[in-house]
Amino acid sequence: MPKLSDRVHTFTDSVIRRMTRISDEHGAINLSQGFPDFDPPQEIMDALAKAAHEGPHQYSITFGAENFREALAEKQGKAIGRKIDPEKEIVVTCGGTEAMMCAMMTICNPGDKVMVFSPFYENYGADAILSGAEPIYIPLVPPQYNFDLKLVEEGFRQGAKAIIVCNPSNPCGKVFSKEELMAIGKLALQYDAFVVTDEVYEHMVYAPNTHTCMASLPGMYEHTITCNSLSKTYSITGWRLGYLIGPEEVIENAKKVHDFLTVGAAAPLQEAATVGLKFPQSYYDDLLATYTEKRAYFLEGLDKIGLKHNVPQGTYFVLIDIQEFLDLPQFKGYTDLEFCEWMIMNIGVAAVPGSSFFREEVNHLIRLHFAREKATIDEALARLEKLQELKK
Ligand code: GLN
Repeated sequence: MPKLSDRVHTFTDSVIRRMTRISDEHGAINLSQGFPDFDPPQEIMDALAKAAHEGPHQYSITFGAENFREALAEKQGKAIGRKIDPEKEIVVTCGGTEAMMCAMMTICNPGDKVMVFSPFYENYGADAILSGAEPIYIPLVPPQYNFDLKLVEEGFRQGAKAIIVCNPSNPCGKVFSKEELMAIGKLALQYDAFVVTDEVYEHMVYAPNTHTCMASLPGMYEHTITCNSLSKTYSITGWRLGYLIGPEEVIENAKKVHDFLTVGAAAPLQEAATVGLKFPQSYYDDLLATYTEKRAYFLEGLDKIGLKHNVPQGTYFVLIDIQEFLDLPQFKGYTDLEFCEWMIMNIGVAAVPGSSFFREEVNHLIRLHFAREKATIDEALARLEKLQELKK
C-alpha cells in the first residue's frame, strides 16, 4: 500500500471516544465521554419536527444560517458585553471541535508555538498537530489547579502565538477567576498574541464561582477567539452545532477555513436550535440548578463509598484518584487505561484514563461525568462500590 501522511502517525484516535465504543460493546454505564442521557428541551425537539416537515433541507449560508447567527449574536453579546455583528464576527461550525480546529488553522503557521494548560481536553493535542503548531504545556497544579503566571509569560516570551484557555476546564473542573483571566489577557496584549477560549461549559459554573468571558475583558475582544457549542447547554451533543466569535479580520479568514473543511453545519438543526438560543434566563438558571444538584448527589455518593475525588468548580467531570487500587497486587503494572478497560468489563462503569489529559506522567486518575439521570447515577455508584471490596 502507498504510504500515508506522516501527520496521521503522530497522534492516536481519541481515547474519550474509544472508551465510549468499548463501554457500548460491554453494556457498561458510560461515564466516560461527556454527554447527557436525557432529552433536549421539548421546544427544541418540537422545532426539529417542524423543520423536518417545513425545511430548510438544503445548505444554509456556509458560515451559518442568518436567524441562527442573529440569535447567537444576541445571546453571546450579553455574555461578552458588546454588540456582536452576526455577519462579520461569527462562524457557525460543526460542533465545538471544528470551532477549535478552525481557530487553530486560522491563526497558526507550521512551527508556531501555542500554550496549552495541562491537564487539557484531548482534542487540543491533535488540533495542534493538524495545524502544525507546537504546544508549550503550562501545568495546572492540583488540588486547586492553579498555574504559575511566570510560565505563561515565559511562553509568550518564547514567541507563543496563542494560549488556549478552556474555561470552565475539562477535565479538572477549574473555573478561571476574573483576575486570572485578566493576568493572562494582559500578557497576551503585551506580547501581541491571541487567546483561544473553549467555553462549552459556560453554563455549568457552580457557586460561588462565576463565569467570565475572556472577550469581555478590557481590550481583549480584538485578541480573543471564543469557541463554543450548543452541545452541553441544550443537551444536543449529537447535533454538532458550534461557533467561533472574534474580531472581523479573524472571522473573515476563519470563514474560509470552515467553508473548505465542512461547508456548513446542518441547516435543519440550526433552524431548530435557534429556538433554544432565544430561551429566557430562567432556562439557564434551571440547567445550572439541575447540574448543581447532580454534582452534589454524585460527589456525596463517591464520598459514601470512599472514593477520593476533586470537587469541580464547573463542568460535569470529576477526577477520581485510583492509586489505592493500582497499589493492589492484582493491578501491578497496570496503566490507567488498562484499569479503565478492566473497570468496564468487571465493574460495568466506563471512565476516561487521566493520562489522556495530562502532559505530565499521570497514571493515578480517571475521569467520570455525572450528566446522567439519578437512577443511572445510583446504579453507577452501586457498581463503583464494588471497587472497595478489592481491598478486603
Ligand atoms: N467534551 C466531551 C468530553 O470530554 C466530549 C466531546 C466530544 O467527544 N466531542 O468527554
